[in-house]
Amino acid sequence: MKLGIVGLPNVGKSTLFNAITKAGVEAANYPFATIEPNVGVVNVPDDRLAALEKLYNSKKKVYATVEFYDIAGLVKGASQGEGLGNKFLSHIREVEAIVHVVRCFRDDNIVHVEGNVDPIRDIETINLELIFSDLEMLEKRMDKAAKLKRTGDKTAAAEFELMEGLKAHLEAGKPVRTFEATEEQKEFIKTLFLLTSKDVLYVANISEEDLISGEENDMVKAVREYIKDENAGLVYICARLEEELSSLEEEEKLEMLREYGIQETGLDRLIKASYKLLGLMSFLTAGPQEIRAWTIKVGTKAPVAAGKIHSDIQRGFIRAEVISFPDLMSSGSEAHAKEKGLYRVEGKEYIMRDGDVVNFRFNV
Ligand code: GDP
Repeated sequence: MKLGIVGLPNVGKSTLFNAITKAGVEAANYPFATIEPNVGVVNVPDDRLAALEKLYNSKKKVYATVEFYDIAGLVKGASQGEGLGNKFLSHIREVEAIVHVVRCFRDDNIVHVEGNVDPIRDIETINLELIFSDLEMLEKRMDKAAKLKRTGDKTAAAEFELMEGLKAHLEAGKPVRTFEATEEQKEFIKTLFLLTSKDVLYVANISEEDLISGEENDMVKAVREYIKDENAGLVYICARLEEELSSLEEEEKLEMLREYGIQETGLDRLIKASYKLLGLMSFLTAGPQEIRAWTIKVGTKAPVAAGKIHSDIQRGFIRAEVISFPDLMSSGSEAHAKEKGLYRVEGKEYIMRDGDVVNFRFNV
């Protein structure tokens, strides 16, 4: 899962990104790709892995991961080429969802680009840039469709009409993700690669005092109210504290969290919220070599899930042997669970559930 961090200058993006890279998986331990300097990879917290590691006496555990892309430099006028403008907008095109950091702390020592702290204005500023960029893309596609429409192309005519609707929606200042469309229309809209069609998770960056008090400040309340019709998520964090926490050893970190009376780090909450927003879940594979969590979309069928592990397993899929994590744990071992008949044999149409511990059978 790839998430892009955006927000105005001086809202705390780099601070959050530093926390992510420090807390994150080291580049050397990340087998899938080389990590670029603007990418931070973090594990998706999942207590089930440690429990399974014990049960199987496994050599290692591998968490599902999330990649955060630091997309700094999005400023007012970016869609007109201000700052590094369009270059940043094109980076946003490559991520699956947007993490939009909003400053909700007051600190006279830290200059706000607009002179004062006003999260709603900030959100509008960024969103407007994304909307402008989408309008530009859309108009190009509409020109093409208009030409085809004139030749009597019915599909082009329908697409043109749909895009007119989208254009009006954007011109009213609304993101594409709130546009009502049929499933078929949604498939077409995907092909437009519009920035505001991506899911957004707003991150309210609050002060340490507000975090400790546990009370939502007026700025966060205003953000919650402002985005209520947007199909977006909201989490609050204190970026500065996260940066401190991420440089501590596990024991010290727990100690500090206890001191502050906090259950889990903001980073963990952020990762979990991203998972939820994107409709993701994990299934697990377990054995003496390795315990591992794999990310899939809610509603994924068994063969597609198998394909996450290897395309050969999907191609040669025969069946899945499945047990739920709680059933496996309460049995005390795989052998006991089998004796009790708790393993299910599932076929091609089986829809995976969160926490399924799976063994796929396949033809090579
Ligand atoms: P960016 O431009 O959005 O990347 O912002 P930075 O992460 O560089 O943060 C701008 C300034 O705000 C830095 O001096 C940070 O130390 C400070 N800052 C970031 N998060 C917090 C916070 O939670 N509380 C306070 N008081 N300052 C913060």
